[in-house]
Amino acid sequence: MNNNSSYDCIVIGAGIIGTTIAMYLSEAGKKVLIMDKGIIGNGTTANTFAWINATSKTNNPSYFALNLSGLKEYESLSRRYGSDNTGFNRSGMIDIVSDRDPGVLSLLHKKSNAIQELNCRAQILTDSEIRALEPAITVQNGDSALYCIDDAWLDVETYLSFVKKQLTRYSVEVCENTEATKLTLDETGRVNGIETTNGHYTTENIIIATGSAFSSTLAELTDYPPYENRFPMQTAPGLLLRIPEKSMSEPLTCVTYINNSDGLHFRPMKDGGCLAGSDYTDGLVSFSQDQESQERAADHLLEAVKEYVPGINPDTFINDCYWGIGVRSVPLDDQSILGPIEGSDGLILACTHSGITLAPIIGKLISEYLVDDKIPEGMQPFLFKRFTD
Ligand SMILES: Cc1cc2nc3c(=O)[nH]c(=O)nc-3n(C[C@H](O)[C@H](O)[C@H](O)COP(=O)(O)OP(=O)(O)OC[C@H]3O[C@@H](n4cnc5c(N)ncnc54)[C@H](O)[C@@H]3O)c2cc1C
Repeated sequence: MNNNSSYDCIVIGAGIIGTTIAMYLSEAGKKVLIMDKGIIGNGTTANTFAWINATSKTNNPSYFALNLSGLKEYESLSRRYGSDNTGFNRSGMIDIVSDRDPGVLSLLHKKSNAIQELNCRAQILTDSEIRALEPAITVQNGDSALYCIDDAWLDVETYLSFVKKQLTRYSVEVCENTEATKLTLDETGRVNGIETTNGHYTTENIIIATGSAFSSTLAELTDYPPYENRFPMQTAPGLLLRIPEKSMSEPLTCVTYINNSDGLHFRPMKDGGCLAGSDYTDGLVSFSQDQESQERAADHLLEAVKEYVPGINPDTFINDCYWGIGVRSVPLDDQSILGPIEGSDGLILACTHSGITLAPIIGKLISEYLVDDKIPEGMQPFLFKRFTD
């Protein structure tokens, strides 16, 4: 079946990255179609910690700058449309360390200096300062924390509702339950459309934003199987636990990291509940596929959070909570892969970890690229060609 209309751009994958790209492109005047093999926002975007930050990326200046631009773009969207509408919550983040770990504390001091040198706000808090900032958690005498003042978190549901409204406002065609299956090319090798489970659509620009399915989609769409195993990206699952508001006597204020070997982290949710994850339980779920072991990992996570959040009713059990597994797509050098791919005219990549932080800046950069027909400076360090040069 041939669908009659042709589009300036077609976005494949309607997670936070694809929908945000579609929003920026349509706002810039492009005629856009976005498709998803399922429904909007139901991939990794539905299971994410959604901490918005650049402060955990200080070891790479250009990646730090990209993430900081992501944060600033949320600020700009929130100024224009209101943070109640965008779901952006500026809470700050505290990274807590015990005085029994002087080595880690010294690293936090170094990190605080590095963040300030990059012109962002950070400071070291004493135990009483932590208690004043986040009264809902247990703080031991002698604890210290790195406080990243500008960090934030996103209520993903609110943000996606906002983006969906913008897509309607700018007449973007949204095709759910439509799987992209093969790129079509003209006689010069340039992209001229896409085959899908709902027929063929015509365009000269295809943006792939398929999250953790990125390598396999790229292999299938380009009919080049080696991409499946050789595209420089790996995947890593993570477990997220939602403790409902009714189980909590006091809401949380900040994003909190406990700087111990478990890497426990938690933050407030919009409804007053708590969202939690940990490096330890992420490791457990990456080894165990069965539901029972995953539930045991979720239970371990709940007990770990209870130790730090005394307001969680001690009689809260895992059956009172919601848990889910999201799959991260992580480019091999931990940085985003963005923009055109040499030798495939009209094919544009948007593959990244930290996609919550980065969605608005990736949307903006890809839109600038397609409007100006020139690679924006901010995109240069993240082109695929860094892996082939
Ligand atoms: C446990 C965990 C914690 C995280 N914490 C953070 C954090 O604190 N901060 C942060 O910034 N990021 C975080 N991330 C990362 C972030 O959540 C992801 O980078 C982001 O959600 C990915 O969005 P996406 O749009 O690329 O992918 P997805 O949301 O997965 O969307 C991809 C879409 O593509 C569709 N699709 C796939 N193949 C096709 C096809 N052939 N045709 C049509 N559609 C297709 C899928 O159905 C899916 O809807 C975390 C991730 C995890 C798992």
